[in-house]
Amino acid sequence: MTEAVSSYWVDLAYLVTGVLFILGLRYLSSPATARLGNRVAAAGMLVGLLATLIGTGIVSWWIIVAGMVLGTAIGLFSALRVKMTAMPQMVALFNGAGGGAAALVSTAEFLSQYRAGISYDQGIAIALSAIIGCLSFSGSIIAFLKLQELMTGRPITYPGQQVVNAFVLLVILGAAVAIIARQGVLPPMAGYAVQSSALAFVGMLAFALILGVLFVLPIGGADMPVVISLLNSFTGLAVALTGIALGNNVLIISGALVGASGTLLTILMGKAMNRSLTNVLFGAFGAVKTSAAAGAGGPQNVRSATLDDVATMLAYAGQVVVVPGYGMAVAQAQHSVKKLADELEKRGVAVKYAIHPVAGRMPGHMNVLLAEANVPYPALYDMEDINPEFPQTDVALVIGANDVTNPAARNVESSPIYGMPILDVDRANNVVVLKRSMRSGFAGIDNPLYELPNCVMLFGDAKSSVDGLVTAVKGA
Ligand code: NDP
Repeated sequence: MTEAVSSYWVDLAYLVTGVLFILGLRYLSSPATARLGNRVAAAGMLVGLLATLIGTGIVSWWIIVAGMVLGTAIGLFSALRVKMTAMPQMVALFNGAGGGAAALVSTAEFLSQYRAGISYDQGIAIALSAIIGCLSFSGSIIAFLKLQELMTGRPITYPGQQVVNAFVLLVILGAAVAIIARQGVLPPMAGYAVQSSALAFVGMLAFALILGVLFVLPIGGADMPVVISLLNSFTGLAVALTGIALGNNVLIISGALVGASGTLLTILMGKAMNRSLTNVLFGAFGAVKTSAAAGAGGPQNVRSATLDDVATMLAYAGQVVVVPGYGMAVAQAQHSVKKLADELEKRGVAVKYAIHPVAGRMPGHMNVLLAEANVPYPALYDMEDINPEFPQTDVALVIGANDVTNPAARNVESSPIYGMPILDVDRANNVVVLKRSMRSGFAGIDNPLYELPNCVMLFGDAKSSVDGLVTAVKGA
């Protein structure tokens, strides 16, 4: 193949990749087509990878095959072994790998070209992609450690934190400007100038890595999903900038898609939690500040119910709203929940599911689990649609959800989750909460719902409790 023909095929393959990525994202936006979306996007990735590696002949076949085998093995292992509840950590790790890869490629590009001089525009793209990629890499690692509970998940704050962060950012930007300016004005370099430019670049990257750590340390609690999504958009941006530096269209397209979708998801999640991005990044959400925090004694006056009490309540209800949360995922109770709903529907009870946008540990977590159990999609209601229905609901059946039902978010100004929209289960005629103990949820705070007169607790693992309810409802 001549070079022109080969570049024609590579560009065509990149176009196909771009179209497959866009279609994949389109399909991913509905639970009914999400699996197809995943496959379409994966096919796009394969086409892009092969076109780059074969078409541009960057490395030997052996390296290509070894890389693909290693990558496939890690991907397969993670997909098969990592639990659904550990998905956010995995997303954080993969995202960090993407950011790190973008930073490495940009660094390699800089080191291979700077002796001969790099134009301003290429220099800007290289420096920004390396900085943002490093920041995303180290920030994602900290997010992983927090979510995996290898370090405290709470915000880590200290006096003058934002001044320190601003100073580190200034050092990075100053170094970037100096490096780019020098590249643009100086003739090809030699000797001392070469060394100092390379050293300045490496120093800039070290500071960017430090900034990533400092940036995520003060974020914690329920803000972690928002920050992961933000880091995801950073990685997209870093990849797109690497594409500009290398003149590679597929990197520009895929980076822009990741950057844009990550930004949209960040905005949507912020809205769902009623928090501005500045508040998420600088508000140290989840820091223990008040008596609303767990450990201050916890709710005392709670009433616990038996399986038979709850089964009778459910069997004679007109409408039951199931409110799933993280505990349903831990217990893997979704199939039992579907069985219970079937049993109730046989008795003429209307069963609906209330889905909070941040229930569980990843966006769409509850939708995925309920879809796996074949719960019909129209039975799932978004928060805005189901909230007006709670006052006409006989039983709100809360299955391992805690923070997303906490009325303190509505009326306790000192609560760390004050202002986050919640599912108004407390407005239902009866609330039944299935959980194992009085322990708090992700945000680490007590839930005054449990002390309300219309609320009873059914203690135990959610799956065993729901299985028990299925049997008890059959006999009711
Ligand atoms: P929570 O984390 O608030 O509460 C879950 C509850 O489930 C716990 O109180 C726990 O109580 C109970 N539980 C755990 N295991 C079981 C089990 N086997 N059987 C029965 N109950 C169990 O969950 P929510 O879904 O209400 O809220 C999600 C939280 O996670 C929010 O704060 C959100 O911001 C945050 N988050 C969300 C992400 C997302 O993208 N969706 C990502 C990261 C964080 P007990 O131990 O007593 O059983």
